[in-house]
Amino acid sequence: MRVAIIGGGAAGMMTAYLLDPAHQVTVYEREAILGGNVRTLGRNVDSAAVPAGIYLDSGVIEFSPEHFPTLHRLFARLGVATRPVPSTTALITASGRHYLSAGKIAASSMPWPRRAAAFTRLLSLAPAQLRFRRRGARASEDQLHPTSVGEFLGPSRSPLHEWLRLLLVYGYSIPRAQIDAMPAALAVPVLMSFTGETSWTSVVGGTYRYVEAIIDNLQGEVITGAEIDGITRDPRGVELRLCGAEPRRFDALVIATPPAQVLSLLRDPSDAERRRFSAWGGNDAEAIIHSDSGMYRRRGIVDYSEFDLFARPPGYNAYLNRLSGLPPDHPVDYHFSYNLADEIDPAKILHVQRHRTPLYTVDSLATRPEIIATNGGDNTFYAGAWLGEGLHEGAITSALEVSRRLGGRLL
Ligand SMILES: Cc1cc2nc3c(=O)[nH]c(=O)nc-3n(C[C@H](O)[C@H](O)[C@H](O)COP(=O)(O)OP(=O)(O)OC[C@H]3O[C@@H](n4cnc5c(N)ncnc54)[C@H](O)[C@@H]3O)c2cc1C
Repeated sequence: MRVAIIGGGAAGMMTAYLLDPAHQVTVYEREAILGGNVRTLGRNVDSAAVPAGIYLDSGVIEFSPEHFPTLHRLFARLGVATRPVPSTTALITASGRHYLSAGKIAASSMPWPRRAAAFTRLLSLAPAQLRFRRRGARASEDQLHPTSVGEFLGPSRSPLHEWLRLLLVYGYSIPRAQIDAMPAALAVPVLMSFTGETSWTSVVGGTYRYVEAIIDNLQGEVITGAEIDGITRDPRGVELRLCGAEPRRFDALVIATPPAQVLSLLRDPSDAERRRFSAWGGNDAEAIIHSDSGMYRRRGIVDYSEFDLFARPPGYNAYLNRLSGLPPDHPVDYHFSYNLADEIDPAKILHVQRHRTPLYTVDSLATRPEIIATNGGDNTFYAGAWLGEGLHEGAITSALEVSRRLGGRLL
């Protein structure tokens, strides 16, 4: 079969890898580079500001072997090396109170009295944490589906509730002001999984390394900078029009863009497709890669977590040195910040990365079961992290589902 894949992010490239041996695939990516939210300085993103041989992720950074087993099978199949990375977190409240996670306390070189004080502070959140976990474990899918994060967590009475909301800001790059409208059906299982005992990995040489490995193995065609004018479907297949080029015919179409893009691609959406996809909006996120530790200095913090969550302004800072496998004595501290632009000296900014992600709401998520149930109708398939938990395991399992239906490779 001739298969057109629209979108060269994680899901699109994984689908291409899985279908490639069985079918003739063509990937159409709108941007000049592949990867979508996978952006690695020194690989698909040039950065003269970072020395050669240092690869810094300005998008997707880390993966959990326990929760992302299919993805780790893909890495193994591609021969892509991963390394275990620490992934501790801390909350810095609006009043400057610093709550360290248990993992951070254990890893810290703080003297014992300070460590004991940090532990006591963390223990004060234990009752709220237990209540959250008990409610999360008891809630059925039917109860979670119509519920928003704001309704599930209630007002931020305990710093734990703010911590959980900011973990979602980190996980989905969605502004704090929109977190309460997120669907509990997506957020609660993710919070339950990732606030427990979990290990993490990052890709040696930066996340884009695995996309390079896919490209190295691909026989199909990849077209970047592709401006799609429109797609029509008929009983014999699919016709794709690219601006300024002759229309091309395919037997099947895989749309691996964020869901908010779907209606702008399809010239002939059915009423049901219109209804399903008009519920989805987009979210713009900006990541700043920099070497300014001033946000810590000003707050008297010397020991950074991998993911420090700031309540004011509501954002986070990821300490990239450990996540990128740099030695402890590396002379420069590299950081990845979200929504902390005012705290960063412009002279220390190495790169600004713009991302687009789906905006998850109770209404948009409610359309998903129907999209999954009708996936493949009219020779039109969908793949994307948004069909799963919104992270990389969702991208690979959605690609695998398309491959299973089209007789492609299985992992
Ligand atoms: C800052 C940030 C950090 C993240 N960190 C992690 C992390 O550490 N771990 C993790 O598991 N997940 C992380 N994620 C989540 C991430 O979004 C998913 O894991 C995954 O990368 C999404 O892949 P995707 O293919 O579904 O979508 P995308 O990566 O959005 O890919 C969609 C592609 O479609 C292209 N496209 C859109 N419209 C068109 C069009 N009209 N024509 C052609 N092409 C089009 C886009 O340019 C893009 O390349 C992070 C997200 C962000 C924004």
